[in-house]
Amino acid sequence: MDCEESLPLLSEYHAGALDESTREGVREHLGCCPPCDGVYRDVETIIVSASSLREEESISFPDETAVWQRIQFS
Ligand SMILES: [Zn+2]
Repeated sequence: MDCEESLPLLSEYHAGALDESTREGVREHLGCCPPCDGVYRDVETIIVSASSLREEESISFPDETAVWQRIQFS
């Protein structure tokens, strides 16, 4: 696998969504290609910060429910 093949697969690779042989190809490529490995680390960072944003959003849901309850009880 080369850079051109690996790069579009990195987010799926991170998500574990690739079949075994493709995943193995990406893993081998990252092991011998520091630039792609660097991109993969960026992808990881983006995915982790995106999912922590989602968590922050979900914190607002209980508050929203409480607001609706206050409206119903008033
Ligand atoms: Zn590469």
